[in-house]
Amino acid sequence: GLSSTSSFASSAAGEDSADDGFRSNTKWGWTSGSLVSQTGDQMTIALDHLPAIESPEPLVLPASALSSGDVLMANEYEQSSKGKPLCPDDLISLSHLHEPSVVECLEHRYNDNHIYTSTGPVLLALNPFKNIKGLYGESTMKQYWGKAENNTTETLPPHVYAIADNAFRSMMRKLDETLGDEFPIGCDQSILVSGESGSGKTVTTKFVMKYLAALSQRAGNRPPEKRAYQKVADTKTLTQSDSWETAGSDGSDQGLLNVTNLNGENAQDSIEGQVLQSNPILESFGNARTIRNDNSSRFGKFIEIQFTRMGRLVGAQIETYLLEKVRLVNPSAGERNYHIFYEMLSGSLSAQELRSYFIAHTATAEDFKLTGTGTYNRRDGISDKETFSSLRSAMKAMCFPKEEQRDIFATVAAVLHASNLTFLDYDLESALDNENVHLEPVCHLLGVTPEDLNRALCHVTISAGNEANVQQNLPVDKAVKGLEALLKSTYGTLFTYLVSRINDSISYQREYDEDDNTIYNPEFDPVAVIGVLDIFGFESFKMNSFEQLCINYCNEALQQQFNAFVLKNEQSEYEREGIDWSFIDFPENQDVLDLIDNRGSGLLCILDDQCKAPGTTDRSFALDVMNKCKNHPRFSADRKQTARLQFSVHHYAGAVQYSTQGFIEKNRDELPKEACELLQASTNPFIRHLADIIEFTRTQRASSKPNALTRRNDAKETVGAEFRRQLRDLRGKIDHMTPHYVRCLKPNDELVQNHFDRAAIAEQLRCGGILEAVRVARAGFSNHYSHSNFVRRYRTLVWKEMKVSIRNRKSTVADPSRECMEVIKHLCEKISNDDKEDATNGENNITITPSATVKQYT
Ligand code: ATP
Ligand code: MG
Repeated sequence: GLSSTSSFASSAAGEDSADDGFRSNTKWGWTSGSLVSQTGDQMTIALDHLPAIESPEPLVLPASALSSGDVLMANEYEQSSKGKPLCPDDLISLSHLHEPSVVECLEHRYNDNHIYTSTGPVLLALNPFKNIKGLYGESTMKQYWGKAENNTTETLPPHVYAIADNAFRSMMRKLDETLGDEFPIGCDQSILVSGESGSGKTVTTKFVMKYLAALSQRAGNRPPEKRAYQKVADTKTLTQSDSWETAGSDGSDQGLLNVTNLNGENAQDSIEGQVLQSNPILESFGNARTIRNDNSSRFGKFIEIQFTRMGRLVGAQIETYLLEKVRLVNPSAGERNYHIFYEMLSGSLSAQELRSYFIAHTATAEDFKLTGTGTYNRRDGISDKETFSSLRSAMKAMCFPKEEQRDIFATVAAVLHASNLTFLDYDLESALDNENVHLEPVCHLLGVTPEDLNRALCHVTISAGNEANVQQNLPVDKAVKGLEALLKSTYGTLFTYLVSRINDSISYQREYDEDDNTIYNPEFDPVAVIGVLDIFGFESFKMNSFEQLCINYCNEALQQQFNAFVLKNEQSEYEREGIDWSFIDFPENQDVLDLIDNRGSGLLCILDDQCKAPGTTDRSFALDVMNKCKNHPRFSADRKQTARLQFSVHHYAGAVQYSTQGFIEKNRDELPKEACELLQASTNPFIRHLADIIEFTRTQRASSKPNALTRRNDAKETVGAEFRRQLRDLRGKIDHMTPHYVRCLKPNDELVQNHFDRAAIAEQLRCGGILEAVRVARAGFSNHYSHSNFVRRYRTLVWKEMKVSIRNRKSTVADPSRECMEVIKHLCEKISNDDKEDATNGENNITITPSATVKQYT
């Protein structure tokens, strides 16, 4: 029956309405109210408020609304002294657990600045879009590691530091168990951060890294210095208090986070500092302002932080995924391009540098096509000048020589100038416009002549059998495509170069002897890693393209991993233990993964086959897909979609509509042979090096897996194939790590503080598979003790009663399961003797309620 007076009712005003936004459902379908009366088969509910109606009539509903789920029971909360509801730190302790109650609880916590909430194994992190005083300061950090180190029973609120701490302790525990192994197995941990754009993944990742770096630098973990670059200056360590308290302590909302501080600049000489310093470099080159996030990462990353047996951080290795390149040729209105372009135009370069990059000192972002269409003003409170100076210090910390920095900036300048190049249109033929003032800078910076550039972009070489190759002039649209490919390839390769360059600096290299055997350095060699994944969340716009298919494919794979870990593990453990438990059907998405990547019949494979065959188009791809996938239960294409060459995939988070337009070109993402040869022939060694990377990353990989269709020597690995391979590697790694999950949530699409959009949160909870996880974690048993641990822990409560049986034993437990039963028996007796009051041990303050005990062990 109804024992609580508050409830949720599904409101009439909550009809879904697809609007221009990217959320399919922007209205919240639930409203809270109180049960006024219940008579027979009817109940009356007074709604608390209904936005669409000023003074709503009480809602009269059939009693069956409760069983059908149209009315749900609300939770009653304890009140704080200020009369606010006190919501639990862990959602699994809610008495009524469903979508509206989870959303309501998160909202109350959000209003109290409690942005972190546990839900069993997952940490939910609400993006506050403001500084919360003291939330990340040194004293907070100390609390979290102090808890583990002092072994206190103090409970601390959920926090990203707690997740990082758990991962670290779990790694150290495993390392202790494998003492003596040169290559211990099973110690690696992963922290998997997901969420939609702007939800706070990158910020979370940085706090994880910062916490781990700080732990590593704590006294006791520090072995003697070994490697040349590990010049830890004692006066400049990360744990120095003045470097911490600046973040979030001034209470200002400007600048949100002190980027400089988060990047650990004070510690740039140490390896920990260097690892943190990878962030400003990746962000300048791989982040851009978008409508969803002022500092949006346009690539995914997995950073594996390497630790010694002592828990000392000795290096890191970064893998990046799918840098977005359309931005370089087709920037969207209201968005910016990659930060680096604006940083270089922000007045930070010296007169001499400007001259060498052919940039006029009066030049602004408006002067270049690449940067001219976006919004020029920078992210709130953060100036391009400042981030550029962070970039420079990061490059310095990473030991990039001056010349290398110049080469990198010159390449960026070349891309900037090249975006302004224009062509002359001679009907079916084209030529580079020689009058264009950017032509000379581009040629100088790329180390090529205008003639060569013109030949590479406006001509195609056709091999005519045995005869000499023929040059054919291209129409202007083709030449423009060639230029776009050159821009994307050059910038994309520069990014690849930077990542591998960072890895050279920060990843630990084992030493080798003359015979090429590794030398075992127990004190310095990393033996375990903590991998931190910061990767794009599920995306569903009104219309979606190749990028979204890749992103959503990745999310399906991660969701499967999540399900497998959280849900299957939990359930199979109950099965193993023979515990009677009603199993929840949890979503199984292998079929979606098959639809996307099955050999031969998966969407990405059909696309690859199409890309390899000559003369194929988006249309032929679409038709092939419709034909081969039409019967797949996760695939659909109605008449209208078919006519428009669109289809839907029914993802775990909902149906997403894809348009095949551009799929072939995006998947090929090819630099024409002519342009590639142009770069290979550059007089500039850095550009030649980039050209080598282009050759290597594509041709090499593709030819290492020979295939009858791709035996041609210019065979390229497609974007989809590369991503599939990366994702396989990632899954392979993560499957061998102990995972820790963080789901970031974005409270509103306006990126403002103090505004909680319930519909938006509900949708993200659904996309993140949170509700299933909560249900399983709660329906199951939240604490797992081994029998002997249970006995050791709880027998003190029934010491007197147990005395006879344990008299002659010290702390060892002889027959754990039998003794466990005995403890339980005595506890139950004791509890019912105490008139079913809680049995409490005053000293240790452990409370056991009868129901919990019985549930756990009957
Ligand atoms: P994308 O997928 O677009 O890269 P993201 O999930 O990585 O998005 P972030 O860049 O981490 O999002 O966060 C977006 C912005 O939100 C940050 O620039 C910062 O202003 C704010 N923010 C995120 N987390 C916090 C936090 N814990 N405290 C204060 N502000 C935050
Ligand atoms: Mg990000």
